[in-house]
Amino acid sequence: MQAVRFHAHGDIEVLKYEEAPEPKIEATEVLVKVKACALNHLDLWLRQGVGDWKLPLPHIVGSDVSGEVAEVGSEVKRVKAGERVLLCPGISCGQCEMCGKGLDSACRSYTVLGVFVDGGYAEYVKAPEVNVIPLPGDLSFDEGAAVPLVFLTAWHMLFTRARLQPGEDVLVIGAGSGVGSAAIQIAKLTGARVIATAGAEWKLEKARALGADEVINHSGQSLAAEVRRFTGKRGVDVIVEHVGAAVWEECFNSLATYGRLVTCGVTSGGEVKLNLQGLFGRQRSVMGSFMGGKAELLEALKLIARRKLQPVIDSAFPLWEAAAAQRKMESREFFGKILLHP
Ligand SMILES: [Zn+2]
Repeated sequence: MQAVRFHAHGDIEVLKYEEAPEPKIEATEVLVKVKACALNHLDLWLRQGVGDWKLPLPHIVGSDVSGEVAEVGSEVKRVKAGERVLLCPGISCGQCEMCGKGLDSACRSYTVLGVFVDGGYAEYVKAPEVNVIPLPGDLSFDEGAAVPLVFLTAWHMLFTRARLQPGEDVLVIGAGSGVGSAAIQIAKLTGARVIATAGAEWKLEKARALGADEVINHSGQSLAAEVRRFTGKRGVDVIVEHVGAAVWEECFNSLATYGRLVTCGVTSGGEVKLNLQGLFGRQRSVMGSFMGGKAELLEALKLIARRKLQPVIDSAFPLWEAAAAQRKMESREFFGKILLHP
């Protein structure tokens, strides 16, 4: 099959569109012919190399896949060849206490499609049967690929971690990111008031179209001052954050008493200062969030199938142009998901 792989970590140039062996399925696995695969920032980090992670090389990234079932293992019962499916990106044991509680990403054997196993930058990818979900409603393959990682992550951040309540004020940092565009919609649907930030006017317009009540252009306006203005100096109840150091202080200072800041990423750096007085005096919480469980993805998919939540697609590239697609992601000139078509 054709795939985009890298044989060593490095810049975009290490991505090679080349012949690669087709995945061999085990008895409980499913082979999927990839129709669309969405990019995530994770792909860029994995390509560059993450800490002491030892990825199998050459490696194929790609965590968000939709496609058609090509072949099923001998013990696969539920999934049939020819089905239109999307893949749940989290792979866990399914047997431990955490998996039992639906907290898949806390499983000790948890990994993500495209991290320690080959992902979807290819014509075919394999996954355990339990990860294969029928494409719900009238979702297209492109829409299906734009859902899993970001809706699962945003859902986990807002509900499982921050325990969002109707009527609360939510600040979403980076409206144009996949997680941001999902979080705006989920928070709005819950009955929250949503304030969204982005670095360009055209992105703020799109954020409003997705349901944001107020917007802040963080390249020209003071985030903390605008939040104070919108909330009558009270601050916001929940902040959905994945940028890290660059916005940390302004975000922390924008939290209301009992406010919860949830972070799932550090694109601008991971070292910050924390004012403990501001933490205990205002009874605030700072919490981490990482991926989520399959059950959370299924809940989000119900609302996506009913068109209450919308997968947001920026653009699509042919698989052989994966390097150009990653360059677009690095440029930050996008809103929503960037897709690859094998
Ligand atoms: Zn487990």
